[in-house]
Amino acid sequence: MDLRYSDADEAFRKEVRAWLDEAVPAYGPPPPPGDMARRAYDTGWQRRLHDAGYAGLNWPTEYGGRGLPASQQLVFLEEYAASGAPYVGVTFVGNAHAGPTLIAEGSDEQRRYHLPRILRGDAVWCQGFSEPGAGSDLAALRTRAVRSGDEYVVSGQKIWSTRAQVADWCELLVRTDPDAPKHRGITWLILDMHQRGVEVRPLRTMDGESHFCEVFLDGARVPLSNRVGEENDGWRVTNVTLRFERGTAFAGHVITLRSQLRRLAALAGDAADDPGLLRQLGRLDARVDGLWRMTQRCVTEAEATGVPSPLGSAVKLGYSELGQEIAALGVRLLGRRAIGWDPGSEDARVVHDYLWSFQSTIAAGTSQIQRNLIAERILGMPRGR
Ligand SMILES: Cc1cc2nc3c(=O)[nH]c(=O)nc-3n(C[C@H](O)[C@H](O)[C@H](O)COP(=O)(O)OP(=O)(O)OC[C@H]3O[C@@H](n4cnc5c(N)ncnc54)[C@H](O)[C@@H]3O)c2cc1C
Repeated sequence: MDLRYSDADEAFRKEVRAWLDEAVPAYGPPPPPGDMARRAYDTGWQRRLHDAGYAGLNWPTEYGGRGLPASQQLVFLEEYAASGAPYVGVTFVGNAHAGPTLIAEGSDEQRRYHLPRILRGDAVWCQGFSEPGAGSDLAALRTRAVRSGDEYVVSGQKIWSTRAQVADWCELLVRTDPDAPKHRGITWLILDMHQRGVEVRPLRTMDGESHFCEVFLDGARVPLSNRVGEENDGWRVTNVTLRFERGTAFAGHVITLRSQLRRLAALAGDAADDPGLLRQLGRLDARVDGLWRMTQRCVTEAEATGVPSPLGSAVKLGYSELGQEIAALGVRLLGRRAIGWDPGSEDARVVHDYLWSFQSTIAAGTSQIQRNLIAERILGMPRGR
């Protein structure tokens, strides 16, 4: 792998930077917490990216993407993070793993319908994988789908579904064969969230927002044409989704750690002259660089093979634990200011980043699960009991 960018990549960087320099300040800051306002803000930004040609950079052109090489996708992410552009928010699942799963495993009809809508910001997706009794042990899921004519009838409960309260579609895992061994009776479906039989109840988290929801399914209907892959072959498709979720979806987050660290150095002010703090900032910065190199490798491998490799587990583990250390340093730098901040201030942002960082070693598979995967699938160690 060649980590240097070509002249064409650097020319693309200039073009991206010029566009972001104008578009980001013109779009303005996110609205205060509120579900529909947040959806409008995030999808409005997605629409601007799309109209300027910066949505689906590596997606096939026939479905509305740009078909650009991985190197330009990486250049875009570097410039995007440095510009302070809006977090992708409610469009994350569609862009980062539902869309890529459809590209890898969906039917042509599914791709033609869904992919352009995701890219234009017309459709928001959520993920219905976890259940109260199926998190790390995801294959233990019990939500049941029974065939009735040319539909599945679905009943059960999902939990922790991010932004499900504003979603149009859900990547949904269901059990279609309760008698088969647990990994063999699962199917991956596309659920229309706007129907009777789907009830969404947002959950409130300690930062005061409702990031995720419980989803209750009671006789919800899914046409057979909304099945991705074969019936009972859903575990294989799930692993494709999880590889995207862990391997490439976090690429933008990794490079954003660099900007977060730069903000902390500025926040430290005179204290940044302290040799101990300088050493700490330098070490964290070097780790961000190392992690970014691993991310570049993951994105480049995914371009070559179509699906990210298990290396994504190492990137996800590194990103989430490093992110927690950076966020904790922010609160240490604030000192007593961390308990009396004004809403909307930089101090509030640092405290919010700290509170939010706790989720990162749980979401998309816990750190313990990533370590198990690294041991078994990268290092080839024997499976644990
Ligand atoms: C912010 C956030 C957003 C999320 N968004 C979504 C979403 O949109 N859609 C969705 O479906 N899910 C989502 N999740 C759920 C997430 O995938 C699960 O929380 C995660 O997989 C862990 O499952 P669990 O919470 O049931 O914990 P458990 O599986 O009960 O784990 C509890 C503890 O036991 C440990 N443990 C369990 N099994 C093992 C093992 N075999 N070896 C070693 N240790 C083990 C875990 O590491 C953990 O520390 C989200 C979670 C968070 C925090």
